[in-house]
Amino acid sequence: YILQGSEFYVTPSIGIALYPQDGHSTQELVMNADAAMYRSKENGRNNFQFFNKDISHGAQERLELSNLLRGALARREFSLHYQPQIALDDGRVIGFEALLRWHCDVRGLTPPNLFIPILEETGLILPVGEWVLNAACRWAAALPDTGDGAPSIAVNLSARQFRQPDLAGMVAAALQASGLPAERLELEITESSLVDVEAHLATMDALKQLGVRLSIDDFGTGYSSLSYLKRFPVDRLKIDASFVRDVADDPDDAAIVTTIIGLAHNLGMRVIAEGVETERQLQILQEQCCDEIQGYLIARPLTEQDLPAWRTTWQRTGLASIVTKARAAHG
Ligand code: C2E
Ligand code: MG
Ligand code: MG
Repeated sequence: YILQGSEFYVTPSIGIALYPQDGHSTQELVMNADAAMYRSKENGRNNFQFFNKDISHGAQERLELSNLLRGALARREFSLHYQPQIALDDGRVIGFEALLRWHCDVRGLTPPNLFIPILEETGLILPVGEWVLNAACRWAAALPDTGDGAPSIAVNLSARQFRQPDLAGMVAAALQASGLPAERLELEITESSLVDVEAHLATMDALKQLGVRLSIDDFGTGYSSLSYLKRFPVDRLKIDASFVRDVADDPDDAAIVTTIIGLAHNLGMRVIAEGVETERQLQILQEQCCDEIQGYLIARPLTEQDLPAWRTTWQRTGLASIVTKARAAHG
């Protein structure tokens, strides 16, 4: 279609349910075709999808989760874990990433990959995200200074939060209420949520005005063009764990990691690698002049209660302990 001189494309997403195996009543058939259509949209749109047991199971689980999530904030079922981030040159703790956890009596602990998409779909991510931001800022503001320089706190923002009107106002309020200096707060945005450059530029500029830092999470996994990196005021790139995983064995992953580090540095940004699990990965990242790392090798995401003990141990032993421990384990 041509609308006011611009070209628009319409593509169909089709869900198909068959009588009699997918339902005996009109209502049941239409409901199942609808669930199949949502799957077809999830699969990238512009395709078709037959109903099957998987889809039926997925739709039921989504319904159950969204019902359980509705009152979860009021029932205080959310908590935050904090994963340390380490500078690769001297091993000091530069910050923590706040990671949301949900525990309910019915299901126990549910992984974020399962419940965060539902929070987004239902819009619940807005109040929950505001809670996360406030809780994380309060926690970081109260961190004791161990002499290493005050660590920063990184908070994940979903696409939906990034589009919410007056995000900057909400961030400013969280900073003010907690007393956390703006430069110690970093907001992580995924590449795939950066689709509308002009609108996002305004949001990012408003956030930068406050003095907070911005990073791009899961970098390298989205589809966005590189030109946005030049235009967005980004402080840090986070190399996605999927590239780090095989960096020692897969030359393609190694090339991607090297390229991302070079790209970041050439654009004047810092770069952190996620999901570092082995000493070998750490060594390669060090050789490639990656600035920072985060991953199970250093620490799993920790509860508020576990963190002080971890920090004390880390201060005593630091990066060297990991390297020697790993060497000893390998003989
Ligand atoms: P992310 O922001 O990329 O966070 C990193 C994920 O990798 C976390 O998973 C972390 O626990 C995990 N991880 C850290 N180190 C390692 C490692 O060495 N090996 C492996 N295999 N995994 C590691 P988690 O906590 O399950 O969170 C998953 C995703 O959920 C996050 O990915 C983020 O996109 C989203 N998320 C978490 N908390 C929030 C939140 O408060 N708000 C929003 N909007 N999204 C959140
Ligand atoms: Mg993140
Ligand atoms: Mg990530």
